Amino acid sequence: MRSVSKESNRANGISSYERPLPSRRLGHKKPMTLTSKTEECLERLQEAGPPRREDLIALLSLRDEKALQPLFFAADARRKETVGDVVHLRGIVEFSNYCERNCLYCGLRQANRQLKRYRMTDREILEAAFAVKRANIGTLVLQSGEDPFYDAEKLCRLIESIKRETGLVITLSLGERPREEYQAFRQAGADRYLLKHETASPSLYHRLRPGSRLENRLTCLGWLKDLGFETGSGNMVGLPGQDAAVLADDISLIDSLNADMAGIGPFLPHPQTPLSSCPPGEVLPVLTILALVRLTRPVIHLPATTAMSVLHPEGRLKALASGANVFMPDFTPPAYRRLYDLYPGRSADSGDPLSILDLLEKELNRYGRTILP
Ligand code: SAH
Ligand code: SF4
Repeated sequence: MRSVSKESNRANGISSYERPLPSRRLGHKKPMTLTSKTEECLERLQEAGPPRREDLIALLSLRDEKALQPLFFAADARRKETVGDVVHLRGIVEFSNYCERNCLYCGLRQANRQLKRYRMTDREILEAAFAVKRANIGTLVLQSGEDPFYDAEKLCRLIESIKRETGLVITLSLGERPREEYQAFRQAGADRYLLKHETASPSLYHRLRPGSRLENRLTCLGWLKDLGFETGSGNMVGLPGQDAAVLADDISLIDSLNADMAGIGPFLPHPQTPLSSCPPGEVLPVLTILALVRLTRPVIHLPATTAMSVLHPEGRLKALASGANVFMPDFTPPAYRRLYDLYPGRSADSGDPLSILDLLEKELNRYGRTILP
């Protein structure tokens, strides 16, 4: 049994609700009425074949929670049918905050000179992997900025030793790399790769990621699939310049990429970036997209992201009730965790991962959901 401290309960943002969620809210009570248009769109989306863009746009344009209840209800039911009531765990270790890129939205961008940079040693990374294993979690996610210090040789050595010593399933999230490097990672024992497409709009992508093209990102995702990685994509929601049509394209892209996983979360403006004065994404559109992805790609793995609990204390639970089925506790050592400053508020999640898990487990059990390591 994992132990829970009051302090970490407060810090992790899961239990700090002013009012706890009654189970009927988390489980989405069956809605009484549907407008015929919403009903038609929902029915068509649940048929086989690619989703119709007009249907996605129509549902993405619904802005009030009541009107969206039928969608959340359908997605939650589909999640139960396809991937069941278990919430899968992935222990994440953020091993370097150095980055060569200058994505306009991200606090790790190279031009952010105010950020103290760190790199974890092989020993520290291996220790963190053991902590994941001791927590009875079967999957490790290794994430970093695009940091050339960890070349293919270093990373392969690391992957091999983690695999040999822990036997964990290894997910990498290291950004864009040449095909040969992905191939070497796969041969060294990496199983999965998370590379969010970030936005399906080529022009917005190019604006937000100077010097990068969506086309290249999609080529990388194609290589990863070919090489036999279980592949994750996904996007941010609430980016400046993003509208319902772009979000509809995000959903279609996740479908056409045959993604095994999709990381979908709100954009949160970081004060030390060029997007500091932009408004943050909102909870409801993220829930809408999670639900639509669950309906269009029923067996996909969808994490309830940390960014959701930054936006709202119940954000992550709401995501788990709208199609999500994965939770990624942070196993980065505390001294480094606050420096992995992608967006503000992440430190709200800086409690001991075992306490966070214990609490999540209790919360989920109330709604008939369980945790699967
Ligand atoms: N460097 C790698 C992995 C680390 S970034 C890469 O870019 O793929 C991990 C994720 O953080 C990104 O995919 C992005 O979606 C998310 N992210 C970065 N800045 C963010 C912000 N301001 N708000 C929300 N998510 C952000
Ligand atoms: Fe670097 Fe990834 Fe942040 Fe872009 S999103 S600046 S690639 S860490």
